[in-house]
Amino acid sequence: MPLRVPKDADDNAPVINGHDASILPLCAKLAARVNAFLQTEAETPLLKAVQEQTRVALGVISTALDRYRYLDEISLSYNGGKDCLVLLILLLCSLATYKKAPLPKELHSVYIISSHPFKEVDAFVDDSVTTYSLDLARYAMPMKEAFKRYLEEHKKVKAILVGTRRTDPHGQSLTHFDLTDSGWPAFMRVHPVIDWHYAEIWAFIRHFEIPYCPLYDQGYTSLGGTTDTHPNPALKATEGNMKENQSQGFRPAYELVEDRAERLGRDW
Ligand code: ATP
Repeated sequence: MPLRVPKDADDNAPVINGHDASILPLCAKLAARVNAFLQTEAETPLLKAVQEQTRVALGVISTALDRYRYLDEISLSYNGGKDCLVLLILLLCSLATYKKAPLPKELHSVYIISSHPFKEVDAFVDDSVTTYSLDLARYAMPMKEAFKRYLEEHKKVKAILVGTRRTDPHGQSLTHFDLTDSGWPAFMRVHPVIDWHYAEIWAFIRHFEIPYCPLYDQGYTSLGGTTDTHPNPALKATEGNMKENQSQGFRPAYELVEDRAERLGRDW
């Protein structure tokens, strides 16, 4: 079937009561903010590094959008964590200029629910579904089985964007595009934020004032399940650095700087 290239991305987009019901208005809004950030001189070396990382990540996403013929072939692995939150924002930005077809009403995404989920994580994921118009498939089963089911139920999906970073378990040898390992359901894993540092993720989230899961304000720096995730001991507040209104005894995740210390609150 020939590729239909409309004049504008919103040509033929879903319309309800005269309004564009596609994700285009959301994408355009986010893209305007991110583009403005990229065009201004960064105020700090950290924000300059974030600008550079953002350009690279947008380039990877743009390659993915070029490489796959239809948007239906691309999905996002989303669990409400900080890394996939940044990835989600960047994906939506990239779609603002998507020209291959009208944008849909919702974005394909997949969430594998932990066997011991935090209620805060589930609530944040629910909020994300509404805020970012996600068509989120949820599975409460082991990851391999969940992806198998997801691909069976979404036969067009060929590539899944994943927010893994270099310092995550198994992140060390990944590139921007990696087929799944043998024994796993076959799809292309796309890693646009693989080389972002921990501090850059937080600088992006805080610069754009993106709402995030409240557990991060309680000293959690990486989110798993309730049985294997604790506030990060590196953020334990002492009398000297405890802020007013800080009842939890831990400083917020964004105060951690070191990549290596990120998973000190995880048992695996
Ligand atoms: P954090 O490290 O703070 O929890 P995160 O969840 O975004 O943030 P990781 O836990 O390192 O990052 O996971 C890496 C990526 O793998 C995520 O960004 C997401 O794309 C994907 N992922 C991990 N766990 C799940 C899950 N349960 N469901 C869907 N995607 C997941």
